[in-house]
Amino acid sequence: MHVLITGGAGFIGSHVAQRHLARGDKVHVVDDLSTGNRANIQLLEGYPNFRFDHADMLVWDGLERAAAWADRIYHLAAVVGVYRVIAEPTRVLATNIAACERLLRAVTASGWKPHVVIASSSEVYGHRLESELHEQMDLSVSTRAGTRWNYSVSKIADEALGLSYAQKFDIPTVIARLFNTTGPRQTGRYGMVVPRFVEQAVKGEEITVYGDGLQTRSFCDVRDTSRALDMLATKATAEGLVVNVGNDREISVNDLAELVRERAGSDSIIQHVPYVTAYGEDFEDIRRRRPVLDRLRKLTGFEHEHTLEDTLDELIRTSREQQSRENGHGHRSMVCHQS
Ligand code: UDP
Repeated sequence: MHVLITGGAGFIGSHVAQRHLARGDKVHVVDDLSTGNRANIQLLEGYPNFRFDHADMLVWDGLERAAAWADRIYHLAAVVGVYRVIAEPTRVLATNIAACERLLRAVTASGWKPHVVIASSSEVYGHRLESELHEQMDLSVSTRAGTRWNYSVSKIADEALGLSYAQKFDIPTVIARLFNTTGPRQTGRYGMVVPRFVEQAVKGEEITVYGDGLQTRSFCDVRDTSRALDMLATKATAEGLVVNVGNDREISVNDLAELVRERAGSDSIIQHVPYVTAYGEDFEDIRRRRPVLDRLRKLTGFEHEHTLEDTLDELIRTSREQQSRENGHGHRSMVCHQS
């Protein structure tokens, strides 16, 4: 099978690429390396079936050819991470909306009908306070907090684009609303809480909980996420649908901080930081986020293979190894957690 992955040098994309290469598929990754990283695909560059183009989706001249070559396309290219979304409000809209449209136009022009998986986000549920988020809910965008919701707006637009092209041109498309994915290779540079807490705990630094820490998230290991995307792409019954993809175990950010500290055997202090210090004036957080996964399970029979504890233990181990490499000698002495 020929697989095109936009944003394939990103955290999630590189895992999707790895999964397909391991299966013997041919994989073509395009990435502008803005939040994506060459190091993410270093492992993959050894595969003869792997091809990488360093290009911006908005102007990439190989797009039509790649779209005509692909049997399956994962569209994951996007400006992501709360810090980047706040810092680059226009870039978020341009990259996330125009790139998606350009891709879908290219697919249509090819006359070929690859399976298309479009990555949307739980951000489209906005500031809703319901504890459980399901695909049939109305979506809403707050008018408070200025451009804070641009990412959400861009993903709602991508969903509309995907569904419209699917309907009008009969392209087998599924929209995956991804909920807080985490795991190996995720960077905390653009905000993501899990790698930030892990690094802070391993270094013995303060663990920075933003706000009161009562806000909740539901974290899904990236290998579970990649497998769910792969399963969805093969299901004819998923075509033309929006599907939540994530893990339905909900945890508060306070409890996450405690859990990371405990698994790392760290004596880091948990420090509450006001939102205004963390993100500036123009910010509004999401209080609760837990996906309803009935649709995913019904369509694919999906079951999770990774618990949050497993993922954290692996991240803590890797972070320790990295610390000791950076220090050039043995890592800080810490009590190893026995599970
Ligand atoms: N968060 C935190 N400390 C950090 C980074 C993030 O407490 O160092 C909080 C953040 O305010 C949010 C949650 O953790 O409530 C998840 O943040 P992330 O950026 O990972 O994902 P998102 O907000 O997009 O769900």
